[in-house]
Amino acid sequence: MKILVVGSGGREHALAWKLAQSERIQMVYVAPGNGGTARDARLVNVNITDLLELANFVESEGISLTVVGPETPLAGGIVNLFRARGLKVFGPTREAAQLESSKDFAKAFMHRHGIPTAKYQTFSDVAQAHAYIDANGAPIVIKADGLAAGKGVVVALSLEEAHRAVDDMLADNRFGDAGARIVIEEFLAGEEASFIVMCDGKNILPLATSQDHKRLKDNDEGPNTGGMGAYSPAPIVTPAMHARVMREIINPTIAGMAKDGIVFTGFLYAGLMIDAAGNPRTLEFNCRMGDPETQPIMSRLKTDLVAVMEHAVNGTLDQIELEWDRRTAVGVVLAAEGYPDTPQKGAVIEGIPAETPESVTFHAGTADVNGQLQVTGGRVLCVVGLGDSVKLAQKQAYEAVDQISFAGMQCRRDIGWRGLKH
Ligand code: AMP
Repeated sequence: MKILVVGSGGREHALAWKLAQSERIQMVYVAPGNGGTARDARLVNVNITDLLELANFVESEGISLTVVGPETPLAGGIVNLFRARGLKVFGPTREAAQLESSKDFAKAFMHRHGIPTAKYQTFSDVAQAHAYIDANGAPIVIKADGLAAGKGVVVALSLEEAHRAVDDMLADNRFGDAGARIVIEEFLAGEEASFIVMCDGKNILPLATSQDHKRLKDNDEGPNTGGMGAYSPAPIVTPAMHARVMREIINPTIAGMAKDGIVFTGFLYAGLMIDAAGNPRTLEFNCRMGDPETQPIMSRLKTDLVAVMEHAVNGTLDQIELEWDRRTAVGVVLAAEGYPDTPQKGAVIEGIPAETPESVTFHAGTADVNGQLQVTGGRVLCVVGLGDSVKLAQKQAYEAVDQISFAGMQCRRDIGWRGLKH
């Protein structure tokens, strides 16, 4: 069996790595892939990003199934296109992907279906946005409506910062069309968790829980990033919390989409904020797996991912149960010099240790240039360590991290700290 994974990040490397472990796999293609997927003998990079060309490639190679990693091709309708051509693909349609591609769509949807989330209002008029901020005070959160690669959210602690974010997005067009409309919402305090499920249109299969670390520096300081590390499972999501999130957020979301005439297929990721009283609310939806959450989650999955994906595209997810490694997985992102604002390319990467049962390194912004591994993007590698406790998993991860070097390398030393606290 041949499978295609669409994307080039650490998430896609982890998905392809897990798929390739299946005995039934003849070939896993990754489009366009990265330096790590290029070096893995079981994976083949394909240098195609155009969706029509991808569909042609899948047809001509006889690829049985396509798994889509990132949001951009999903919002661009890759699932609609592949299905129209009779090709099996796991992901949401363009219509379903609006849960992620438009914050206004997601907020109106949650409001309509009684799904707990922060109070909000949507604006395209600058003066009205400023007036709303003055009326509501700080802290307050300003979000570009459209896709902004994780950079379109400003958690403003002061009025001044909030007004500046409005001007950036609405007056100065910092995010182009994505920021032509903005959502302004109530600031929620608490602890975040990533809650990801698979949905085949009827059945919902939850994956292991996790927590991301958005800020660049230790102690959650510094600017927001795409994510500097993640670990799984997240102890804040107790069995009782899990049941509650399914009941109050996940099930009503899938049912609400169906009521609105949209069948949801694909990964559904609810970014949760759990307050001090233990009430979960939805910060955002993603219609794909998280990066870096995928790396520790896939490191813990014991079930054959090919079988899971087959059930997912055939509408039979009720017939499979997922088995997880009981250990904790801690994934530490190594980022380029200057990340997140001005990531520097070209540094030579050395010392990546061989995979062991306790650690594995996934690539993101890397390329194999004449046999030399070079930095090509902001987030470069994600090193996952596994251990019987958060502390032991951290130890495994950082032992591997300490063998790796490239000029200007940045990483946090405290990934998993909330897990230690629980
Ligand atoms: P989002 O892309 O909407 O998840 O926002 C990115 C990050 O901004 C989240 O992971 C939170 O850390 C933070 N954030 C978003 N919305 C809120 C909110 N209403 N209150 C507090 N923090 C938020």
